[in-house]
Amino acid sequence: MLATKNYKFWFCTGSQDLYGDECLEHVAEHSKIIVAKLNESGLLPFEVVWKPTLITNELIRKTFNEANNDEECAGVITWMHTFSPAKSWILGLQEFRKPLLHLHTQFNEEIPYDTIDMDFMNENQSAHGDREYGHIVTRMGIERKVIVGHWSDKVVQERIASWMRTAIGVIESSHIRVMRVADNMRNVAVTEGDKVEAHLKFGWEIDAYPVNEIAESVAAVSAADTNALVEEYYSKYDILLEGRDPEEFKKHVAVQAQIELGFERFLEEKNYHAIVTHFGDLGALQQLPGLAIQRLMEKGYGFGGEGDWKTAAMVRLMKIMTQGVKDAKGTSFMEDYTYNFVKGKEGILQAHMLEVCPSIADGPISIKCQPLSMGDREDPTRLVFTSKEGHGVACSLIDLGNRFRLIINDVDCKKVEKPMPKLPVATNFWVPQPDLYTGAEAWILAGGAHHTAFSYDLTAEQMGDWAAAMSIEAVYIDKDTTIRQFKNELMWNSVFYK
Ligand code: MN
Repeated sequence: MLATKNYKFWFCTGSQDLYGDECLEHVAEHSKIIVAKLNESGLLPFEVVWKPTLITNELIRKTFNEANNDEECAGVITWMHTFSPAKSWILGLQEFRKPLLHLHTQFNEEIPYDTIDMDFMNENQSAHGDREYGHIVTRMGIERKVIVGHWSDKVVQERIASWMRTAIGVIESSHIRVMRVADNMRNVAVTEGDKVEAHLKFGWEIDAYPVNEIAESVAAVSAADTNALVEEYYSKYDILLEGRDPEEFKKHVAVQAQIELGFERFLEEKNYHAIVTHFGDLGALQQLPGLAIQRLMEKGYGFGGEGDWKTAAMVRLMKIMTQGVKDAKGTSFMEDYTYNFVKGKEGILQAHMLEVCPSIADGPISIKCQPLSMGDREDPTRLVFTSKEGHGVACSLIDLGNRFRLIINDVDCKKVEKPMPKLPVATNFWVPQPDLYTGAEAWILAGGAHHTAFSYDLTAEQMGDWAAAMSIEAVYIDKDTTIRQFKNELMWNSVFYK
């Protein structure tokens, strides 16, 4: 479900023919070494492909257009080995439509004090040439990432790796298709939004289907397929009967297995990557999809509750960006539920009525069957667990009427002090940075939703860079946030984004 293309990133080195053929030979040789070493580092999630040195307007323009047309190229990394007059880059950059990284590096790490002469200076003048190039990219108003440092430095390589994931988010955003099998919950404001503007800004296709069309797909799933999946559940998860009859319990589990298969087939057939449901609009479905949605999220589908298509698309986006992360800790739809205000133990208990992705689980996962006051259907089964400790980002995409704003909060996930045996839902517990009081105050001032797209495996920098590439406002709530500064930022942004 999460399979994306075999993406690659092109490495384009800038120079000019002023310094003679020998110099250009060195430039090519050096950039080939850099590309080889970057690929050998084992740190980059995607391959870097070396391209011939760019020295003329024609070649620059041709190369950028080839990058546009190559379906596997997810972005271009540029570096000026020598001086490269930046007017040469204007036409190519004007026509380029993919993520751009300016790697501000140089071949040698140290100044060769004993041997340095003017020939060396002319051949190795990235400090000089990259400024000329950076100037034109800024003058043209092109969004790009700039990473500074020696190419062999692990920190630099990790930053390139991190940017590659943002670039994949930028490229893949326009492939996200969200299926709405229900409208937004009545009277709720923050889950609403302009779907046409979302299509323009992010490339998202957001379509509605009558709930009973997907319910028919569920009803069409055979008993044999359903039972096989139930057996998989029973082998994989702990069964917490809590006094219920085992056979009756199993029938309730089977309803979710049938929903999982029916939903998955319907989504695959119609080529959607995210889905929203709404407890108030379940049509012929026997239960609110709980366990079924949790499993689909784990497979890579985006999800938003109560018709929240913005969060569903964000969850899908963040799952794509984290695909293949080594030792990934998980990405999920999440909702702020209840506070702990005890001094020194402050935090927010995160959950949803059912739908939290098991990718974030820590330890055993159980199936429970409990009544649900919302939805007017039979007791739904759901996966129950607690979540991992560690740093994560909670993101809320809101529509302010004249623009989208992405709110990005660094959060620290912790264990709750005591078990919560009566709580029949999966949970996470986090402390927003810089602390609960400032973090929640800033979140509310920014207009952030109760629903979030959460990941342990992405950084605020990656999410903010994605927002910048989408030309939308992003605000960060992190260790450096103060309310006075944050309010000013919101005020200044309101003028900039008018
Ligand atoms: Mn909700």
